[in-house]
Amino acid sequence: MARILANDGIDEKSKSKLEKIGHTVNVEKLSQDQLNDSGLRDFDCIIVRSATILDGTVLGANSGGDSKLKLVIRAGVGLDNIDIKAAESLGLTIRNTPNASTNAVVELTIAHLIGNSRGFIGANLDMRGGKWTKKNLIGTELSGKNLGLIGFGRIAKGVTRVAQTLGMKVHTYDPFVINQESNALDVTFHDSIESLFSSCSHISVHCAMTSETNGMVNAGLVRRMPDISPNGIKCGRHIVNCSRGGILNENDMLELLESGFLTSLGIDVFEKEPEANPELSAHRSVSSTPHIGAATIEAQERIGEEIVSIVRSFFN
Ligand code: NAD
Repeated sequence: MARILANDGIDEKSKSKLEKIGHTVNVEKLSQDQLNDSGLRDFDCIIVRSATILDGTVLGANSGGDSKLKLVIRAGVGLDNIDIKAAESLGLTIRNTPNASTNAVVELTIAHLIGNSRGFIGANLDMRGGKWTKKNLIGTELSGKNLGLIGFGRIAKGVTRVAQTLGMKVHTYDPFVINQESNALDVTFHDSIESLFSSCSHISVHCAMTSETNGMVNAGLVRRMPDISPNGIKCGRHIVNCSRGGILNENDMLELLESGFLTSLGIDVFEKEPEANPELSAHRSVSSTPHIGAATIEAQERIGEEIVSIVRSFFN
């Protein structure tokens, strides 16, 4: 049976399921230096979340010769911490758990959207300071506003369903969604990201981090956003990123917030983690969370179940 290293942890239920079917699961984290220094060669499988970096050097040092390593599992969606090309060329199998966290990220995205349109962060700061600032806390509703989704994959579709229930009109830009007509959801597709930003007072990012999307949401794009809804309500401009850090240009966002052009920002993912961006997070109009998109009991259980099923079928 397999020796497995869960380098960024694994939920307890899945660990015991794997052990029950005969595998050994080690949860003592290897440092990046230990990984570089061939620390994985005695394991058949490594499971990582986003913290462990499996670059070409690490994978090269742990493959070939007498190495047992065969399977790399990313517990989650994004594979940007794994050098996939290097892994494939070394004959390693890479798997992830793409569906398990969708609902959790959908709900977090909606939480940031609702919280920011009602000024939750500022209200909470004032209440903690004993200030009753009701007069300054006139928010806007999401109903009737245009929501622009960058990317139209699993999470964006889930956000669409909830946002439409709240009365939002959903727009999207995704150059890789070809068969737009077959999409049963009532969504407006845009041919360019500029057109998406020009149409929407609310934007939410749901694409993968690629060389093209890195830094894609910058001041030039945000300056196109209207601050008035189609039904004439001055709702301001709101952006949420629960996708990947670095897709938003954080310096640009801070300047736009400070100048008042951008009304609010909801951010779960940062250019640098876990350092995050203290200046941005401290801003009164920013709701920030420490990459907790998939951090629900339910999502962790679903991720665990997918991992058990991957390991079971691979090693059988
Ligand atoms: P998905 O693969 O289903 O959808 C991503 C979509 O982005 C695809 O439809 C793709 O065509 C589109 N896309 C790619 N390049 C694009 C571009 N240049 N412009 C516009 N669209 C582009 O992925 P998903 O499961 O919906 O996840 C979306 C994002 O959320 C990923 O980046 C993932 O890593 C992230 N995520 C974050 C958390 C968290 O903890 N915050 C948890 C899970 C997923």
